[in-house]
Amino acid sequence: MAAADASGLSLIAYGDVVAGCTKCALAEGRTQVVFGSGSPTAELMFVGEAPGFHEDKQGVPFVGAAGQLLSKLLDGIGLKREDVYIGNVLKCRPPGNRDPLPEEIEACEPHLWRQIELIQPKLICTLGNFATKLLSGKPAGITQVHGRQQEVVLGGNPVTLYPIFHPAAALYTPRMLQVLQDDFARIPELLGRAAAPPPPRPAPEPLAVEALPQQPVQLGLF
Ligand code: URA
Repeated sequence: MAAADASGLSLIAYGDVVAGCTKCALAEGRTQVVFGSGSPTAELMFVGEAPGFHEDKQGVPFVGAAGQLLSKLLDGIGLKREDVYIGNVLKCRPPGNRDPLPEEIEACEPHLWRQIELIQPKLICTLGNFATKLLSGKPAGITQVHGRQQEVVLGGNPVTLYPIFHPAAALYTPRMLQVLQDDFARIPELLGRAAAPPPPRPAPEPLAVEALPQQPVQLGLF
């Protein structure tokens, strides 16, 4: 069996194990574990914070308003969701979409390390504060470090870590959308591919604004 097939199967098998996880109290309130989605051999992985309402219902990360924006940003650099892997720091939804607690992160992080070990991405984009601090192992927040890549070893492999703002931040703060697009535009270069065409400078999309009432603002995104 080719290595890529084997790692795909291992990732599915690991997802089956995590589906029954009861390592923290979030297990009691979840509809289901949101393990991750996309290519098991992706060169590019995104790590967000935690599932929200829609993700908890559907079992897939980033399917709500922030997820729609993530798909659009990917499209802008010529990628589809199936080309990348998308996961989260927490695999279960915190009640009311509150910030992850330290004990929840501690209980859940082995699942993320194992995912990284199996997928072996070349580039990991951390979306927002929680993923950035966890994967960099440093306390610097996203406002300070966004758009600055760093070389690290994760899951036993060298990886380029590239912190960017969480797409939800651009839903609440329109000027963030431009920052996010500019940071996104560097992803092809970081993957060693031809540069993406310069991002357009549109007014904030109505998509974001319409989605606002569904979820409370998460201040931890900044
Ligand atoms: N926000 C996240 O951080 N992850 C999701 O899966 C959805 C929204």
